[in-house]
Amino acid sequence: QDPSVQDVVERLIADGIDIVRVGYTDLLGTERARDVLVERLPSVMEHGLSFCRAIYHTTPMGDTVEVAGGLDAGLPDICVRPDLSTLAPVPWETGVASCLGDAFEPDGAEPCPEAPREVLRRAIARLSELDLDPVTGPELEYYLCEPDASSPSGWRRYGDAPGNVYTAGRKGDPEGHLLRTLRHLRDLRLGVTMGNHEFGGGQFEINLDHSAALDAADRAFRFKSAVQEIARGDGLLATFMAKPFNDEGGSGFHVHLSCLDGDGRNVFQGEGPDGLSETAHQAIAGVLEHAPALAALFNPTINSYKRFGPDTLAPWLIDWGLDNRSAMVRIPPERGAASRLEVRLGDASANPYLGIAGLLAAVYLGIRDKLACPPPLEGYGYDTAKAPVLPGDLPTALDALAADTALVEVLGEPFVSAFLTYKRDEVARFGRHVTDWEFREYSYHL
Ligand code: GLU
Ligand code: MG
Ligand code: MG
Repeated sequence: QDPSVQDVVERLIADGIDIVRVGYTDLLGTERARDVLVERLPSVMEHGLSFCRAIYHTTPMGDTVEVAGGLDAGLPDICVRPDLSTLAPVPWETGVASCLGDAFEPDGAEPCPEAPREVLRRAIARLSELDLDPVTGPELEYYLCEPDASSPSGWRRYGDAPGNVYTAGRKGDPEGHLLRTLRHLRDLRLGVTMGNHEFGGGQFEINLDHSAALDAADRAFRFKSAVQEIARGDGLLATFMAKPFNDEGGSGFHVHLSCLDGDGRNVFQGEGPDGLSETAHQAIAGVLEHAPALAALFNPTINSYKRFGPDTLAPWLIDWGLDNRSAMVRIPPERGAASRLEVRLGDASANPYLGIAGLLAAVYLGIRDKLACPPPLEGYGYDTAKAPVLPGDLPTALDALAADTALVEVLGEPFVSAFLTYKRDEVARFGRHVTDWEFREYSYHL
């Protein structure tokens, strides 16, 4: 037995922890987890935790999608090994700590090829072939809802008051839920920096520190799960759906990105007229070139495409601009060591590992292939005469991902094919479902 595991167990017990929650991401970014009694941790470290591979092909409603290696193979196991470097106390529970795990094949030897954390590692490894180390800063928006028996969904927007953008305090947050959330997230050691009310009634944004890409994705993943948990504990629902309401804007998952060289220097800073390097331009070009495929990862739901559109502050066109929030890629005004891209494509429903993996793969391809970058957008960013439009729906984005052979090669074919099977099943299920809109539109007069 590894003596360091025994040390960890003793420290946890001394800190009053008797349960360790081992969390793991499925393809959607849902946290799948098991609560392990602390005295069982050494054995779990040795043998791993068994999860049915179905975590990669079970829908949120519990239906099973037939992905190769799943039902056809008798629903075999995967083996999840806790990563003790990610241990942190769960501040809203007593005596509970949590950590992330990595998924391996049942023999424990090889990582699962479709595991999102592994897909991200694969993209990071390709950038390191170019001697580049990616740094990312995630920003996530979400809506809080409170119970409402008279609403068809059972929920209405929390503290529903209009026009609270960039405010803090009780006007937009009558119960002080944001303050409680920020403190819990800090104690969970997620590196949160600040939070505020967003544009939509009941919509909030919390920003996370930037850090090495895998760590930042880990924190974004844990952030979403923690925000949902804290809200449920308060009788509220925190939703990261891309566009939950017809009359309010959607929720973004913006990712700030820079790359360091072997000496720790940000390679995006440069002497060009815009203060950016040639490498930064190639990185931007990579994101533009692969954007239709990236949408499948950053905008992975049927609902995601209802967030895009003119005058939304979400992107609509495949373009970039200098400090321009109507562009898909915004270059924030800071330069020097803080030179970076803010990729605004993603929505909050994305699995953070997969969105960031796709982004890094696109940046890698842009730099490797020395892609040429078009001039930046000037002014209004929702003019279709200026740039191509993003995919208008999920099937189009999935086809673009399938057709982007360079991106598929970086992300790994087994992952992409599992993801496409899963998502095409989702599209087919929705296609068979009759919605309330159809009844209103078609029931009376046709
Ligand atoms: N809610 C917008 C989005 O969906 C972003 C608004 C902002 O710039 O903060 O991307
Ligand atoms: Mg925002
Ligand atoms: Mg932003």
